[in-house]
Amino acid sequence: MPEKPGSVWVIAEKSRDKIAEVSLELLGKAREIAAQTGSPLTTAVLLGKDAGLLAAELIAHGADQVILVEDPRLESYQNDTYALVLEELIKKHRPEIILFGASYRGSELSATVAARLQTGLSAHCIDLKVDDRKGLVQVVPAFGGMVYSEILCPEARPQMASVKPGVFPKPERDATRTGTVLKESATVLDGYQSPLKVVGVVQQQPSDLPLEKAETIVVGGWGVGPDMWDYLEQIAGELGGAVGCTRPALDEGWTRGEHTMIGTSGKTVRPRVYMGFGVSGSAHHVVGMKDSGIIINVNIDPEAPVFQVSDYGVIADARVILPVLLEKIREHKGV
Ligand SMILES: Cc1cc2nc3c(=O)[nH]c(=O)nc-3n(C[C@H](O)[C@H](O)[C@H](O)COP(=O)(O)OP(=O)(O)OC[C@H]3O[C@@H](n4cnc5c(N)ncnc54)[C@H](O)[C@@H]3O)c2cc1C
Repeated sequence: MPEKPGSVWVIAEKSRDKIAEVSLELLGKAREIAAQTGSPLTTAVLLGKDAGLLAAELIAHGADQVILVEDPRLESYQNDTYALVLEELIKKHRPEIILFGASYRGSELSATVAARLQTGLSAHCIDLKVDDRKGLVQVVPAFGGMVYSEILCPEARPQMASVKPGVFPKPERDATRTGTVLKESATVLDGYQSPLKVVGVVQQQPSDLPLEKAETIVVGGWGVGPDMWDYLEQIAGELGGAVGCTRPALDEGWTRGEHTMIGTSGKTVRPRVYMGFGVSGSAHHVVGMKDSGIIINVNIDPEAPVFQVSDYGVIADARVILPVLLEKIREHKGV
């Protein structure tokens, strides 16, 4: 068993006493990368209060070692405290490569840690490769997803990247895998007075079915409006699918949360059927849905770019179509 952490780290994210899916997905990729770097040990880093039980989950999904920092001051995620603890761990163990999930939390934390360490960070990567001469090759969509760029971090260390959920397959859970847990402390927080104070935790209601697993995704954009949003939920419910959204719908708070956003800063999805309503088809959204099976879009504007990536385009008012569609689906099902 390793006595020293491997040089490829995954910063694990905890959500509702579970490891976030994206962290498990990253472990699979981290193992591939570690195997190519000559230091074939994958390390997961887990911060929290009473988080120790989750270390076994990380090992079962591919971590050889878990660095565990359990401290009551880490009970709720805070950018400043988490960044301070991670900075200290990284300076102590000097990993070569660090991967974060490109969730809201991971995006914020990775940027803070990279700035504190004065190293580079490629955000929202869609692929990662190792080149013997260049190091970690971080692939990101550029110009709204029209081209893919390869980003290198030739001098500063560690090389850091955040990766969107759903990009890499989650490794099979193997409960027989073994690994070690290295306990570290958060003494760097002793005497630290955070300017932030957690006044309460509000849990978002996750959709029952994650977008990555849905065969049908019903997507709402700005054109749907808040008063009609519930139709998307009902249609998705009838079809056994999930509801996705664009950035403006998320920002307006019409959706169940960031885990439903599709695109450059959201998820990459490949459902059998994508049904979009009031979605313009900006490159930032299209990059996350263009590989879906059948793409259907309803938009009032015949020139909407989304029609260029649609198998079926309906030029119509989504606000009229949605109630009729729900009724027809129910009729068809005999509900
Ligand atoms: C760095 C960066 C990252 C980004 N990441 C993402 C991302 O991950 N995901 C994402 O979605 N966006 C992302 N965006 C935002 C993106 O550029 C677009 O602004 C966004 O996708 C547009 O969302 P929309 O189609 O809902 O809204 P709009 O572009 O405003 O389009 C609304 C559409 O609805 C149509 N419409 C209006 N009324 C009706 C009606 N009654 N019936 C039918 N159609 C109607 C209009 O014709 C229009 O085409 C990002 C932007 C940046 C700069």
